[in-house]
Amino acid sequence: MKSNSLNSPIDEIKGVGPKIKSQLELIGINNVEDALFLLPKSYENRTKLTQIKDLIPGQPFQVEGEIIESKIYYPGRRAFFAKITDGTGFLQIRLFFFSQQQAKSFEKGLSVRIYGVIRNTGNKLEVFHPSYKIFNSKFRPPLDDTLTPVYSLGSSKITQYRLRTIILNCLKKINESNLNEQNIDKTFFDQNISRLSIKEALKIIHSPSVKDDIVKIKQFEHPAQKRLIIEELITNLIGVKISTKKIDKMVAAVIDSNDKILSSFYKSVPFDLTNAQIRVIKEIQADIKKSKPMRRLVQGDVGSGKTLVAAGAILTCAKNNLQSVLLCPTEVLAEQHFKNFSTWFANENVDIAILTGKTKKKEWEKIDENLRSGKIKVLIGTHSIFQERVSMKNLSLVVVDEQQRFGVKQRFEMLQKSKEELLPHQLFMTATPIPRTLAMTIFADLSVSKIDEMPPGRNPVVTSVMSNDKRDELVKRLEVICSEGNQAFWLCTMIEESESLDVQAAESAKEWISKRSNNLKVGLVHSKLNKSQKDSVIENFRNGKVDVLVCTTVIEVGMDVPNASLMIIENAERLGLSQLHQLRGRVGRGPNMDAHCVLLYQGKLGEIAEARMAAMKETNDGFKISEIDMKIRGSGEILGTKQSGGMELKIADLMRDAHHLDNAEELANILISYPNEVEILMKRWVGNKQDLIAAQ
Ligand code: ADP
Ligand code: MG
Repeated sequence: MKSNSLNSPIDEIKGVGPKIKSQLELIGINNVEDALFLLPKSYENRTKLTQIKDLIPGQPFQVEGEIIESKIYYPGRRAFFAKITDGTGFLQIRLFFFSQQQAKSFEKGLSVRIYGVIRNTGNKLEVFHPSYKIFNSKFRPPLDDTLTPVYSLGSSKITQYRLRTIILNCLKKINESNLNEQNIDKTFFDQNISRLSIKEALKIIHSPSVKDDIVKIKQFEHPAQKRLIIEELITNLIGVKISTKKIDKMVAAVIDSNDKILSSFYKSVPFDLTNAQIRVIKEIQADIKKSKPMRRLVQGDVGSGKTLVAAGAILTCAKNNLQSVLLCPTEVLAEQHFKNFSTWFANENVDIAILTGKTKKKEWEKIDENLRSGKIKVLIGTHSIFQERVSMKNLSLVVVDEQQRFGVKQRFEMLQKSKEELLPHQLFMTATPIPRTLAMTIFADLSVSKIDEMPPGRNPVVTSVMSNDKRDELVKRLEVICSEGNQAFWLCTMIEESESLDVQAAESAKEWISKRSNNLKVGLVHSKLNKSQKDSVIENFRNGKVDVLVCTTVIEVGMDVPNASLMIIENAERLGLSQLHQLRGRVGRGPNMDAHCVLLYQGKLGEIAEARMAAMKETNDGFKISEIDMKIRGSGEILGTKQSGGMELKIADLMRDAHHLDNAEELANILISYPNEVEILMKRWVGNKQDLIAAQ
C-alpha cells in the first residue's frame, strides 16, 4: 500500500462498483479519506436485547422473538403485518414498502431479531420498518460487540449497512497509511488535550467496542470524539482567520442609496413597515455604501418580516442597476418569494427570475443569457442552483434566507466564485439566534441586525399538548375553525431518516381526517409528489380551496399563508425545540387572529420532551425558546442536528461543544503557522480549497 493510500479513489475499496460510487459521491465521498471522515451522527446499541415487557414507546430497542403471525393486508394500500413474542409480551411489525420475497421470509415458527423505534398504538406495541434479521432459533446469530454507527445519508440511496461495510473496509487501510499528522498529533499531545492519535480516534469513532465507554460515546464526550471535535473547530477557526484576511483585501460594489430610493416600494407593499424593518434596511444600506464587503446577519423571529427587509436591500441594488441573488433552502420557499417580489416590485421595472431544480432547459438558457447581459436584476433560487455555475454580469448582493449557512465552507465558496471580480455583499437571514460567545469567535466579522418587533396585530399562538389517543377531538376543532373561514396545517413526522415513512404517515392522516369529516376539504403535500402536483395543492391551500393541508416537514421553513390559524403537529415529541417553534410560526400570521398550535405525542413523554413541550406552552418568543433549548441540551441531551449555531460541521456541534472553543482557539493559533498542516486540515474538514490557502 502506498503512503498516499488515503487519496486512492473510493472504487478501489472492496464492494464499491460504479453504482455505489455514484451514490457515495452524493455524500461527498470520492476517496478513502473522505469516507473515514464521514463521521457518525449517532449510534445504535445492538449489543444487547430488551425484553418486550420492558420496551418504552418512542425509543429505539433491539428485540428478539418468535414469529407467530404474518400476512399481507390492504388498509387502503398494500402493507405487511407480523406479530412476534418473546414470552414476555407481543410486538407487531409493519412494513409499507416491501417485496414479496421479504413478506415470505417472515415464516411462522422462525425467529426474528429487530431494531427500531417502538410505537404505541391503542395499547399495542408496534414497530414500523425495523431493520431485521430472520433466523432459525437453533442458529442464533451472536450479538454485535461494537456499537452501530449511524451516518447522514443525505439524498444518497445507499443503505446504512452498505456504508458501514465500506467504511470498515477503509479503516483496514488506515494502519498502512501515512495520515501525515505528526505535527497535528504532537500539538494535541503537547497541550495535553488528547493522547489519541487521529488514527486511533477514527477507529474508535467508526466502531466503538462495548469495552469502550458507551455512555460517553453516545454523549459525544469520549476522548476520541473530543480529539476530532477539537480538530474540526481548530480548522474552522483557522479558516475564519484566513478568509477574513482575504476578504479584508477585497472590495465590493459601492451601492448608493438615499431616503427616496425605496419610497415607491414602501407605498406599494400592502402595509406599513415596522420601525425595526426600516431600521434594518437602513443598516444594510449603510453597509453596502462602502466598498468593504458587507457580511451581515439579520436575526428576526419567525413572522417578523425578514423577507421584506431582503426585498428592500435587493431593490436598492436593482435601482443601481446591479444584480442580486436570493438563495432559499427549498423550492416552495423560492416560489413564494418569487411571487411576493413580483407583486411588491410590480411598479419598479425590475426583471426578476426564478431558477429551481425543475426549470426547463430552454427557460434556463434564456435566464442564463439575461443574467450574463445584466437584464435580469434579481435571481431567486435554491442553494444547489447557485452552486452550479451561474454567471452574472454584476452580482453585487447575495442574500441567504433561513438556511443558516454562513460557515467557513460558504465563505470559501463565495471567495472562489468571485476570484477575479468584486466580492458581492452578503446578507444572511435567520430566525435562530446565535449565542454571543460563538458569534464572537466563529463568526468574528459578522455584523448583526435584529428585527425585534413583530408586525402589528399579531397575537401569540396558544399552544397545547395532547396525547395522540385523543386525536378524535381534533376533527371537531378543525371543522369549527374552517367553518369560520380559517385554515389548518396537519403536520406528520415519523421516524427520522425515513422520508418514505413520513409520506406514508401523511397519506394515512389525510385518509383518517377525510373519513371522519364530510365537510373538510383536505389537501396533501409531501416530497414524493412532483412539482406540479405540489404546486397545485399549495396553490389551492393559499387561495382557500383546501381547508386542511396535511403535510410533512416540507413546509418547515418560511411558508407563509396568513389565513392559517391552527397547526397540529403529530409526534411532536420527536422534534427539537427550534423546529417546533419554526413550525408553529406558520400560523397566526394574519392580523388579530386567534391562532393555536396542538402538539400531539405518542406514549409517555420523556423528561426532555416534556421540558420542550412546557417551553412551547410558556412562550412564543424565539429568543427565549433558544435559551431554553440551550439549557435543555446542556443537561446532556444528544441531538442529531449538527446545524446548530449555523454551520455545517462533520462532528462538532457548536452548542454542545462550545466549551471546547478555548482549547481550539489556542491550538489554532499554534497550527496556523504550519502551512502544510493547515492544508491537511482544510482539505479534510472543509474541502479542497488549497488555492485559497496558497493565496493567503
Ligand atoms: P419571516 O421573518 O418569518 O421570514 P415573513 O417575511 O414571511 O416572515 O413575513 C411574515 C408575514 O408578515 C408575511 O405574510 C408578510 O407579508 C407579513 N408582514 C411582513 N411585514 C409586515 C408588516 N410590516 N406589517 C404587516 N405584515 C407584515
Ligand atoms: Mg422567512
